[in-house]
Amino acid sequence: MRKLALHWKIVIALVLGFAWAYIAATFGWSSITRDWIDPFGEIFLRLLKLIAVPLVAVSVMKGVASLTDIRVLGKLGVRTLLLYLATTVFAVGLGLGIVNVVQPGAHISDDQRLKNRAQYEAWVDATDGVELIDGQRLSTGELAVATDTVDEAMSQRLETANKTAGQSPLQPLVDVVPENVFGAFTDAAMLQIIAFAILFGISMVLIGGAQVEPILKLMDSIDVVLLKMVGIIMDAAPFFVFCLVAGKVGGLAGDDVNGIAAVFESLGWYSLCVVLGLVLMTFVVYPLLMKLFRPDKSIGWFFKGIAPAQMLAFSSSSSAATLPVTMECVNENLGVSKRTSGFVLPIGATVNMDGTSLYQAIAVVFLAQFHMVDLSLGQQVTIVLTATLASIGAAAVPSAGLVTMILVMQSVGLNPAWISFIVPVDRLLDMGRTVVNVTGDSVVSTVVDRWTPTEVPRS
Ligand code: ASP
Repeated sequence: MRKLALHWKIVIALVLGFAWAYIAATFGWSSITRDWIDPFGEIFLRLLKLIAVPLVAVSVMKGVASLTDIRVLGKLGVRTLLLYLATTVFAVGLGLGIVNVVQPGAHISDDQRLKNRAQYEAWVDATDGVELIDGQRLSTGELAVATDTVDEAMSQRLETANKTAGQSPLQPLVDVVPENVFGAFTDAAMLQIIAFAILFGISMVLIGGAQVEPILKLMDSIDVVLLKMVGIIMDAAPFFVFCLVAGKVGGLAGDDVNGIAAVFESLGWYSLCVVLGLVLMTFVVYPLLMKLFRPDKSIGWFFKGIAPAQMLAFSSSSSAATLPVTMECVNENLGVSKRTSGFVLPIGATVNMDGTSLYQAIAVVFLAQFHMVDLSLGQQVTIVLTATLASIGAAAVPSAGLVTMILVMQSVGLNPAWISFIVPVDRLLDMGRTVVNVTGDSVVSTVVDRWTPTEVPRS
């Protein structure tokens, strides 16, 4: 009998994970899930993250060191960043288009929206320096006194966001340069690790010859061993994926299936908009890009090649944890050179988040509609800019996009505490947007690899 392909095994595990979450919620078994199943999901995430840091460091160093001409690095870098930026801005635009046409916030009862509007006006009054976005006030009759509930975790997030707001615009650039490389490794600060690795790689190219040969050989060996580790973990992926999904989805449902249904009733239209955007990105935009730049390959070939990474992104909600598998899929199945993937994918996992930026655009406009606040065209343009930056700034871990969305809310003068409204469905939507994030990185690496030959002809 033919062995079932890994991605099918993972699909089955995903379905079983959801089924278990449903059964556990129905029979009140959430404590069994929490105590005996969820920990294995955590172990899986840790194992993948454990490999991600050394793998990124070695891949980037090797990728850069394999260039005989440093100018290729510049070409590769510029093309990669341009494509990343273009796809992210497109995703935000798509999100804005969908949310303005469907108007998910308008599907909520007028009573509720009026109450929300009153809370918004009360918040504006209580806040120094924030103005009413549309300059219109509710009549006194309509005005109800309301206070926003900001839980402790949320106020911490707000504090972080406020701190960020007071910094120099160049601070993100400063943050990319580590003071201490071991600190960067300890914190798993991917951009800092990449910055160090690029400098290390460039230095190796410049020195060249016998002096760097031993390091290159050592890195080749470390790379092989790390990939073997990924292979071992992936052999057990179906089991781990079941635990991960059962644990996380089960955690959301708790012991009350109806609770989940109720949440989806009020946030259903919003969730549908996000899912529609993510589906369009995955099944229309990316295939078109592939057709345009890689007409020699079929769409089926591409999806089959990256399916394991997509499934893992869906179950882990973390581009960083998925990175080792994305790299393997792109190298082994899509034939992208290690030189390209070692450089393009780690950067992409950190800065290129099309799913996240699309979701942020939809969420912010939805929350404005939910509070009867009209956003002007100018404000929506601001959202394009800030959602692009906020997705770049989001770490590749679960719910990071929700946190950086605070900056987008602030940029248009909305109350950042509103993000608590969409928290109940966030984890599920995070699963979908992480798939898009990972797919986007894979598309760009495939395109850039074809575009950039190893050598730049001497002029
Ligand atoms: N979970 C996403 C990722 O890792 C980031 C986010 O949107 O929260 O790509």
